Amino acid sequence: MGLLDRNLEIKTPEQIDLMRRAGLLVGETLELLRGAAKAGVTTGELDALAEDNIRSHGGVPSFQGYGHPPFPGTICASVNDEVVHGIPGSRELVDGDVISIDCGAIVEGWHGDAAITVAIGDVPAAVRELMRVTEDALWAGIAAARLSGRVSDISRAVETAVRARGDYGILEDYVGHGIGSQMHMAPNVPNVVRRGDRGPKLVTGMALAVEPMVTLGTQDTDVLEDDWTVVTADGSLAAHFEHTFTLTSDGAWVLTALDGGRERLAALGVPFGGR
Ligand code: MG
Ligand code: MG
Repeated sequence: MGLLDRNLEIKTPEQIDLMRRAGLLVGETLELLRGAAKAGVTTGELDALAEDNIRSHGGVPSFQGYGHPPFPGTICASVNDEVVHGIPGSRELVDGDVISIDCGAIVEGWHGDAAITVAIGDVPAAVRELMRVTEDALWAGIAAARLSGRVSDISRAVETAVRARGDYGILEDYVGHGIGSQMHMAPNVPNVVRRGDRGPKLVTGMALAVEPMVTLGTQDTDVLEDDWTVVTADGSLAAHFEHTFTLTSDGAWVLTALDGGRERLAALGVPFGGR
């Protein structure tokens, strides 16, 4: 592993292969939870499923014990106006909820981090569209990443993809991030363009987590008394999608997508860089 400017961690191909194992474990865990997230199920039950799946496949949940106060869960379970960092527990999902499930795992010291938003039963068309817009923006951001391009290319693509679809709130206080031997590393990957900040150059061996957080109302948020749960200031519903990806000389490789991103990247005309 080498360090470039701004303390960016550059991974060897072997280390990226370990990140792929971590990413696949996260992706498979999220698919398990997508199937399990139904009315009557508690967020704590989803959390237990996630922990069992990660540990039984040789991984370690990266969120457990993270930060201050130490995060108690394997997943973040954020329901409705909760955007991110919801603590799993006794809350029972009901028809019409939307839940963002964020999950991280470590395999042999290397991290994967991804999130999905799932509708419970029937939700209004506007909420379905919010979910589609957020996930599409995530993929637009990844598709905009090119070797010798800049991190801001990703931010611009995410922001443009959301703004083109309507009057949504895009969180600015929470951002995507570099990832590798730790979950959160340099550089930041904002979901909007910040004037004058192009961000570092994109090079092979870099790994980034892109994670747009989009609301039906304001971008402003509050943190609940548990010191973790981030809610929209106006109570509007939110969606959150995330993937960890890297760039090889062949193209993009989405380490937390089950197919490595092959299908979505092809639809966007972007070469697949996985192995
Ligand atoms: Mg995450
Ligand atoms: Mg993340």
